[in-house]
Amino acid sequence: MKPLLKLFPILLLFMTATANCQNNDEITDPELTEIWEPQPPVVEPAPLSSEPPADAIILFDGTSLDNWVSVDGSEAEWDLGDDHMTVRPGTGDIITRQEFNDIQLHVEWRAPEEIDGEGQGRGNSGIFLQNRYEVQVLDNWENPTYSNGMAGSIYKQHIPLANPAKRPGEWQRFDIFFKSPVFDDDGNVEEPARFTVMLNGILVQNNVEVFGPTVYIGPPEYEPHGAAGILLQDHGDYVSFRNIWVRELDQEIRFTDGIWRDPQD
Ligand code: MG
Repeated sequence: MKPLLKLFPILLLFMTATANCQNNDEITDPELTEIWEPQPPVVEPAPLSSEPPADAIILFDGTSLDNWVSVDGSEAEWDLGDDHMTVRPGTGDIITRQEFNDIQLHVEWRAPEEIDGEGQGRGNSGIFLQNRYEVQVLDNWENPTYSNGMAGSIYKQHIPLANPAKRPGEWQRFDIFFKSPVFDDDGNVEEPARFTVMLNGILVQNNVEVFGPTVYIGPPEYEPHGAAGILLQDHGDYVSFRNIWVRELDQEIRFTDGIWRDPQD
């Protein structure tokens, strides 16, 4: 290759950068890139604990199952303990009465202290966002299973970045950030759903794209849907839950991209 041809891509980069500088130099007022409206709402943060912040919707505080029903619409039949509820195997999944789109969700859970079973048969439950997309709950303390079925996996889709499992019998916490999918008028996926997930304060899913509703067999496939409840799974194991709260994420802010544009354009 001739020396001049070799230099061509570098030259092109330099020319583009210079052109950009000239454009930016024309803008001298820093206020042009300050966006004041809309303002994110002020939220009183909780002290260093998992207490719900001021704008949280409390889904379960240990006192009743009133915010939940069985998936068949009948009363939720899970067992209510002192400050928690426990799956009563065979009574089925339970789901929130309220339906949600984009949310921040906090859930604390505990696998039975007495180890019974192995792999997927040990402390298995699940948290399904919009009744479809599962963050796996599993006792993963020294309990090997397939990686994309571990606690903190987006079941059968995304392997968790770490395994911060606590011992069975200890309380664990999920903080889940979910962006619901967007469909066009023909039902095609415009934006897939996305998850960011912390398990026990450790990032296990980093803004991953969901490929479709959770399925046990075969590849997932999207079907258009709107807001839907949060489902907790009865997988036949005595998994307990406590302190469940959710924050709805503001749609107006989501659809405002935060980039200044010339009002004349
Ligand atoms: Mg499960």
